[in-house]
Amino acid sequence: MFSTEFLDIPSLHSAAGTITLPGSKSISNRVLLLSALCQGTTVVHDLLDSDDTRVMLAALRQLGCGVQENGTTVTITGLGGKLQNAQPIEFFMGNAGTAMRPLTAALAVLGGDFTLKGVARMHERPIGDLVDALRLLGCRIDYLGNDGFPPLRVGKPSLTLDLPIQVRGDVSSQFLTALLMALPLAAQQQDIVIEVVGELISKPYIDITLNLLQRFGIQVQRDGWQRFTIPAGSSYHSPKTIHVEADASSASYFIALGAIAADGAQPVRIQGVGADSIQGDIRFMDAAAQMGAQITSGPNWLEVRRGAWPLKGIELDCNHIPDAAMTLAVMALYADSPTTLRNIASWRVKETDRIHAMATECRKLGAQVEEGEDWLRVHPLPKNQWHPASIHTYDDHRVAMCFSLAACNAAQMPVRIEDPKCVAKTFPDYFEALFSVTQADKQNIPIICIDGPTASGKGTLASRVAQALGYHYLDSGALYRITALAALKAGLLLDTAHEVAIADLARTLPARFEGESVWLGAQDVSDAIRTEEAGMNASKVSVLPAVRTALVALQHSFQRLPGLLADGRDMGTVIFPHAPLKVFLTASAAQRAERRHKQLISKGISTTLDSLRADLEARDARDSNRSVAPLKPAQDAFQLDNSQLSIEASVDQVLAWWKAKQPF
Ligand code: C5P
Repeated sequence: MFSTEFLDIPSLHSAAGTITLPGSKSISNRVLLLSALCQGTTVVHDLLDSDDTRVMLAALRQLGCGVQENGTTVTITGLGGKLQNAQPIEFFMGNAGTAMRPLTAALAVLGGDFTLKGVARMHERPIGDLVDALRLLGCRIDYLGNDGFPPLRVGKPSLTLDLPIQVRGDVSSQFLTALLMALPLAAQQQDIVIEVVGELISKPYIDITLNLLQRFGIQVQRDGWQRFTIPAGSSYHSPKTIHVEADASSASYFIALGAIAADGAQPVRIQGVGADSIQGDIRFMDAAAQMGAQITSGPNWLEVRRGAWPLKGIELDCNHIPDAAMTLAVMALYADSPTTLRNIASWRVKETDRIHAMATECRKLGAQVEEGEDWLRVHPLPKNQWHPASIHTYDDHRVAMCFSLAACNAAQMPVRIEDPKCVAKTFPDYFEALFSVTQADKQNIPIICIDGPTASGKGTLASRVAQALGYHYLDSGALYRITALAALKAGLLLDTAHEVAIADLARTLPARFEGESVWLGAQDVSDAIRTEEAGMNASKVSVLPAVRTALVALQHSFQRLPGLLADGRDMGTVIFPHAPLKVFLTASAAQRAERRHKQLISKGISTTLDSLRADLEARDARDSNRSVAPLKPAQDAFQLDNSQLSIEASVDQVLAWWKAKQPF
């Protein structure tokens, strides 16, 4: 996840590849409970890993269900409608509404001695309408705290199912969902009728419930949205295997991406949700197709390519896809005529006033936008009118995800997304997913080079700046250190006698960087490469021209979206000579020796200041006097003497230089 203050997305020129979207929360917990109520085993694929699903799984284990987890695949062995042990059970539901409500109903119908609790906030979330409905049909439920709220105690029911069961539909559709999932357990002898009192809200979620019930063998008859009948003789049947759909609203960004930028041989393939999705927002694909997207679909996947280009402007009533329709507003920038989105009054009362937000931010990009109380019209944005914009995201995940698509503009303008971590609400790894299926021209992927002598603090500075910008980090010194280590292991001498053999090793160096640790093949060499001796050895192999050449391709491969911080000796002069920012870091030899001394002492390694300083100077001399890529500042490098600067001050200086070069 990007927790940076802002994320600069470089201009993206194409999209291709496969992404797997995280599973839908609503579907995950329904499928878990339904699997638990069946007889036999259900293999659930692509389950969402979240707080809410973990709460549900823990509760199912307590009830005696078999639960086997293997990554995002979970195998549930169901109860077959009967509880195996009669012991009292206390359940902790955290703050998971999607677990609390349906479990309460199922447990109340099954009967037993159960206590259901949650975190303090859960005890403020209403459940009275559901409890009232359950009590009317003979369930025994007591409030242990305040009336109308958890915690609850559930006993054994004596069910009377002759009369229609009434439930309110205007507070939460989860109450109706809970009854619809629990009552098939009691529908052996007679039809069970549920009547909704008041206007039912969130109908698409009831559709999801009905659809999943059908997959588990229960055919609910629906009369409008007021009356639901579970036929006599209903019983749960496991579908044996079921895939949890990915979140259809999240899919909209990648459908749009394919329509805008998948113009090569490969499509954008979205794994986890297909055209037959049971989520309302999947209908976004029809709107995208109307604008020109070419979409094919199979079970659980979509493939999207650019069709009409430019896209076609449309006029659409978006009431059925309120969330996903925001994505259309950004697609509209790439169209041939204006796009009007109607019947979107609900946008005004979401995470932010989304009509205002979309209009304001589209205008920042240069677009002409008109808005009304419940509509928005976005005009196409011609190539010569795009502005590089810093997009404010209003703590609204969808605004952030939508505007990332503005980076596909033909004007090759980057886009800045402020507060990118707001996507965590539904899709923490959204930007990682985006970068994994988009390509940029090399010259558009920013690089900052930080070169300088041994122990000048490059590593710390570079990795801090990388962190602040969300960029990748290349510690090129580590590559020379690993090469020297690998050469010694292979019994080679670190001099010209074995130059060719060392270069061969370097060309196929199995080096991997994982967070703080560095691997050579299967071996963790993080500590082994950090000794003073390893530094000296690195310096010896680094004078060999063939070795330097052999490491060039590996170093270039670190230039990936969204950007790179590279530290070393020749980053700015040889490896990335076109980098837009080069910094040459220096500090006096005395200062550097002192810093290194402190570092080593803190690691329990004893040495003297004098010997350290002599070593540093020897290394400086070798690095500066070698014939290839000697250590020297690039002509266009900013020099930074950090002898008297704190790390923070150095980081701020480099960031200030960087920001000054950006167009935002
Ligand atoms: O930066 P670090 O101390 O890890 O580098 C170890 C040695 O590797 C340096 O002393 C230098 O000789 C060599 N090196 C290099 N070119 C780089 C990075 C490191 O020659 N880009």
